Amino acid sequence: MKNLLLGIIISGSIFAECVDERIVAGLSLERLRSNHQVRVLSDGKYLTLDKIEINPVINYTVQLLPKNEHSYMKNNGDFSRYNRKYIEYYTYAQMQKYLSLKDSEISAIEYERKTIGRSLEGRDLFYIGPKVIDPNMKTIIMFGRHHGDEGTANWIIEGYLNEYLASSQNEKFQLILYPMINPDGAMAQTRYNKNNYDLNRTWTKTSGVDETKIIHEHLRSKIKSIKNIVIALDMHGSIREDFFYRVDESFAGQSFYNLQSTFINRLALYDPWQAGNTIHSNGHPNMARIVLIRDYKLHALTHETIRNIPLRNRRKRSKQNLIEQGEAIVKAISDLY
Ligand SMILES: [Zn+2]
Repeated sequence: MKNLLLGIIISGSIFAECVDERIVAGLSLERLRSNHQVRVLSDGKYLTLDKIEINPVINYTVQLLPKNEHSYMKNNGDFSRYNRKYIEYYTYAQMQKYLSLKDSEISAIEYERKTIGRSLEGRDLFYIGPKVIDPNMKTIIMFGRHHGDEGTANWIIEGYLNEYLASSQNEKFQLILYPMINPDGAMAQTRYNKNNYDLNRTWTKTSGVDETKIIHEHLRSKIKSIKNIVIALDMHGSIREDFFYRVDESFAGQSFYNLQSTFINRLALYDPWQAGNTIHSNGHPNMARIVLIRDYKLHALTHETIRNIPLRNRRKRSKQNLIEQGEAIVKAISDLY
């Protein structure tokens, strides 16, 4: 028992998270500001401290991000300074370029790359998937970059799509992919969208807000006739370690929990960075993963990869390794379903 408790305490601290979210008294906010970037929840939006009148005796929900994080140094769309220090930042332009290169492969399997709407600043929100949905085909859902500053997730999505298009997976499974939910946040290198929403706190049962309204309503219409969705992966970038966010046994029962363990453990065979690491979190009620599990009964997981990886790192991790992590997902899915 003692060891078990110790294990829980340790796993909480080494794997870290996508963001540190807490409830704190107004009085503590000034102190937190010395070590963190602080955003305060107000009317669904996460505002910087200068945008809000703080009452010291009231409790506030806050999101804390490391103050020294490169994502908060203003890049103004120029990532060359970042790229000298970290694995190349994945921009909206990179996604456009990459998808243009893939267009012939996408149409060769009767898929389409379609602009389904635009971000608040007018960037395309893309869907990649079948022109005509087959309701009986096993289906994979993937989306990424709810959080603009979590760029590594998109290199993994590239690796995934490369392998999906090149392998026999596309004959057995249909894919519904939204590669970049928050392109404005990506270019501003911020977690939030233009309206200061954390888009992964804006999913409702049937819709969303701003960009997630477009994505969720499109997804909803695409999947309504599909009978067998084998997995839904939401791709993110964490602070310090790779892991999956998953719900605990109480949320959707033991067999669902076991189903998720099977996938996480299988992927660990192919992905030494993910390596079976997990954090149990029953999340926020308006998180994509939670809505997909609770309201759609889907096998949904949040995939987290370190978001700012120094070029010189102890484990010699490279951009190529991120691409291979995407390929590993294809292998694990093909093995299991
Ligand atoms: Zn995230």
